[in-house]
Amino acid sequence: MANEDCIFCKIINGEIPADFLFEDDRQIVFKDINPLAPIHLLLVPKKHIRSINDLENSDQAIISDLIMRAKSMAEKMSVDKSGYRLFFNVEKGGGQEVFHLHLHLIGGWD
Ligand code: AMP
Ligand code: ZN
Repeated sequence: MANEDCIFCKIINGEIPADFLFEDDRQIVFKDINPLAPIHLLLVPKKHIRSINDLENSDQAIISDLIMRAKSMAEKMSVDKSGYRLFFNVEKGGGQEVFHLHLHLIGGWD
């Protein structure tokens, strides 16, 4: 399932270190190495899916898991009340640079 050239698969497999905040059997959460905000997390399914365009009907639980985990990570990072943004970049024109599906969570501004 893992793509051997994929940096996020390497993080999932422990081949590249990352600042992990959560892991279960389906997803991981780590800090973005180049944060766009005081808090910038990446929520990443363990299944290698290139982008939103490649989702199949059987992947619906993956997306709901990511969003429910984003909600709980926002609480954990204490940005739930102040507010935050969740976004997917989709393909090159949408700003996607790592072609393993991931949800960005940014927040923590004054
Ligand atoms: P995107 O542009 O949506 O594909 O987002 C990819 C994100 O991954 C960018 O915000 C990068 O800063 C981040 N990133 C790339 N490599 C790493 C890494 N090794 N550890 C943590 N974040 C990374
Ligand atoms: Zn991957």
